[in-house]
Amino acid sequence: MAGMLYLVPTPIGNLGDISIRCRQTLEQADFIAAEDTRVSLKLLNHLGIKKPLVSYYEHNKDFKGNVILDRILAGETCALVSDAGSPAISDPGEDLVKQCAAAGITVCAIPGPCAVITALSISGQSTGRFCFEGFLSTAKKSRREHLEALVNETRTMIFYEAPHKLLSTLEDMAEVFGGDRPISLCRELTKLHEEVVRTTLVEAIAKYTDQPPKGEFVLVIAGAPERVKEVATADDAAARVKALMDTGISRKDAIKQTAKELNLPKNVVYDAALTIDA
Ligand code: SAM
Repeated sequence: MAGMLYLVPTPIGNLGDISIRCRQTLEQADFIAAEDTRVSLKLLNHLGIKKPLVSYYEHNKDFKGNVILDRILAGETCALVSDAGSPAISDPGEDLVKQCAAAGITVCAIPGPCAVITALSISGQSTGRFCFEGFLSTAKKSRREHLEALVNETRTMIFYEAPHKLLSTLEDMAEVFGGDRPISLCRELTKLHEEVVRTTLVEAIAKYTDQPPKGEFVLVIAGAPERVKEVATADDAAARVKALMDTGISRKDAIKQTAKELNLPKNVVYDAALTIDA
């Protein structure tokens, strides 16, 4: 019988955030696939767990994915961990899950630390609807294209960002979204120097120009304001019906077309059209 893949979230800063279930899963797995075995070894030593480790990261994932898959198909249980946080969210675990799902292997995700959700919860931005945009490209052109595609996004937007790229990202965001757009910069979450700066894009640029950014960041940005849909009035309807009739369209067809164009009920347009001089 095939084994299973467990996705085991690990602390994003505070070691106390490892859960009992995560610990048990690491203890019971046949082997652990880790993004960086040195990083994971520190955690395992802290937990007093000894387990065979297999490295699984961006540049070996195609080859190692198959090795891991074969072991699971042969009946072993694998626990996948990333350097920090939830595996498969902006890290190579995503591909291993796809591979296992395609091979019919059971994947079990254990809930736990995740930078995107931790940041959203603490951001003070609207949390009802949000979109996670991961990392922006390092290439200026595709970074701009990514941001421009979000210009009318009304949901709260969340990005991962490295400190050395923060300033240029904020500058691009201010150009695309406008400098007064609210942003929460969530830094060093769950760590000693945890900080949430709730400000605007232009003020964030000023702050991090004076004081170069340090540590890990999640950026939570307010969505674009909802556009108020303009509701057509009876006068608009009458004017449109008249304009159409002036082109030779029958009164009946002009009313029908106006109702459709202005998204108004036909009887409303009909009544409005009664005000037009014959
Ligand atoms: N899979 C992980 C998760 O979703 O929790 C994230 C992996 S991603 C490679 C790493 C990014 O997560 C960092 O560049 C940073 O944007 C964010 N991050 C991780 N830990 C963080 C922390 N303690 N505080 C703020 N951001 C953090």
